[in-house]
This record gives sequence, C-alpha cells and structure tokens, in this order.
Amino acid sequence: MKKTVENHNIEEPLILTVKSVINYTSSLYELQLDKEGYEFTVGDCAALYSADGKTSRPYSIASGTNEPVLRFIIRKMPDGVVSTYLGNLRPGKKVQISLPFGWFRPGQNRADSPFVFIATGSGIAPFLAFMKSYPKSKPAYVLYGVKTLPEAVGYGNLKRWSNVDLAVSREKIKGIYNGRLTGLLDRIPLDKQTHYYLCGIDSMVEETGSWLEKQGIDITSIHREVFFNAEE
Ligand SMILES: Cc1cc2nc3c(=O)[nH]c(=O)nc-3n(C[C@H](O)[C@H](O)[C@H](O)COP(=O)(O)OP(=O)(O)OC[C@H]3O[C@@H](n4cnc5c(N)ncnc54)[C@H](O)[C@@H]3O)c2cc1C
Repeated sequence: MKKTVENHNIEEPLILTVKSVINYTSSLYELQLDKEGYEFTVGDCAALYSADGKTSRPYSIASGTNEPVLRFIIRKMPDGVVSTYLGNLRPGKKVQISLPFGWFRPGQNRADSPFVFIATGSGIAPFLAFMKSYPKSKPAYVLYGVKTLPEAVGYGNLKRWSNVDLAVSREKIKGIYNGRLTGLLDRIPLDKQTHYYLCGIDSMVEETGSWLEKQGIDITSIHREVFFNAEE
C-alpha cells in the first residue's frame, strides 16, 4: 500500500531504508531512500530523524515525483545533530521520516505564467524535484549560487533543460561567474506576469526578494523558502 497522508497511521513512526549516500564534497551529500510508496508534491519537505527518533529537521525533497527513490541534498553542518548522522548512514539502514509537508510550490502557476527559479546551495532541491517531475515545463531562467563547482548539484541537467546562470563564490572557473549569486541579479528577466521562486540561505532570499520588489515585482509573485538563518 502507498504511504500517503490519508492512509498512514500517525501513531506509528514511518521508516524508510537508505539506498545510498553520495558525497559531492566533504560537506555536501545526497541521501537516497527507497521510496516504498511514499508520495509527495513538488516543493514538499519531510522531517528526517536522528537515531533515537527524538530530534528531527526538515529537508526538501529533491527527487521527481515518479522516481523510485527519495532524494535529499544535505549540507553537513559542523556538529549538526541530524545532518551529520544522516550523512554517515550506510545502505540498508532504516531512517525515520515524517509524512511530506510544505507550502512552497515552485512553478505552481506554470500553465498560466512564466516562472523563474533562484537558489543557493541545497536550496536547489525543490527545483530539481520540479525539473524531474515536469521536464517539459521550463522556467524562463534559473539563477544558482554555490561555493564551489562540485557543490553545483544537478547543474549539468539544469543547463540542458533551461537558461541557467551559475555563480561560484569561492573558486574561479573559466566561463563561470565568480562571486555571490546576488552579483547577477541584473540578469533576472523582469516581467509583471512572472512568478519568482527563491530558496536557500536567508541573506540571499532577503536580498533578492527586496531587489525584485524594488524593480516593481508584486510581493504576491515572489515566493520564498528559507533553509538557513546563518552567515554563509
Ligand atoms: C523548510 C526547510 C527546509 C530545509 N531543507 C534543507 C535541505 O534540503 N537541505 C539542507 O541541507 N538543509 C535544509 N534545511 C536545514 C535543516 O533543516 C537543518 O537546519 C540543518 O541540516 C542543520 O541541522 P543539524 O541537526 O545538522 O544541525 P544542528 O544540530 O541544528 O546545529 C548544529 C550547529 O550548527 C549551527 N547551525 C545550524 N545551521 C547552520 C547554518 N546554516 N550555518 C551555520 N551554522 C549553523 C547551529 O547553531 C549549531 O551550533 C531546511 C530547513 C528548513 C526550515
């Protein structure tokens, strides 16, 4: 039976099995869980739990709705209780997970209006979920900021799919903008019909959101999901 909000007995913890952990860098990894019928909507998060089942953190689902695995792109925080625990799991281990939840809905107006995705770091997760779920529905533009090139998860696929600019802040790479994503705000196509989806660290979401408002974009067309309140 599929695991959905409707049929899960909330008295029982929901447990999935680790398929693999892919390390992109020493501090960024992808956790893959066997989906086992788990259903979600693009933009949803799930709370993942520590070993004792007492501590949980929300993580945005990065896989397509039809993929057989659930993917999460996770930054390992120094001394981070949950992000460190999950990053050290081996295939076959069991993980407690909540039912999916969320209000961030990238591209939800895609049939009626253009849309733009803007992400830093693991904030690309909901946009990867969108790309894999709706490959024929393309954003007008994607702006993606990372610290180093190996952290640009999904960049190759995003480039083949849409019009993408990458900003790499801590490495100089020929042909790629060196600096923070906010140095490229002028490249964002501005249009009153367009919806803008911002996801990642608070400083980027605040700065980019304020900039869009100053350019005359209505606040109801700017959608924000903040993962971290911290310095980069
Ligand atoms: C809606 C939502 C979705 C999220 N989705 C994702 C996701 O897809 N991928 C992802 O990697 N994270 C995501 N997060 C962040 C995630 O939930 C955790 O906050 C993060 O993994 C740290 O948890 P932890 O238990 O490892 O660290 P904690 O044990 O909570 O913190 C350990 C130490 O690190 C510090 N710390 C915590 N966060 C930061 C930070 N960002 N920078 C510097 N220091 C910090 C704490 O103050 C503490 O000292 C999301 C958050 C929200 C609110």
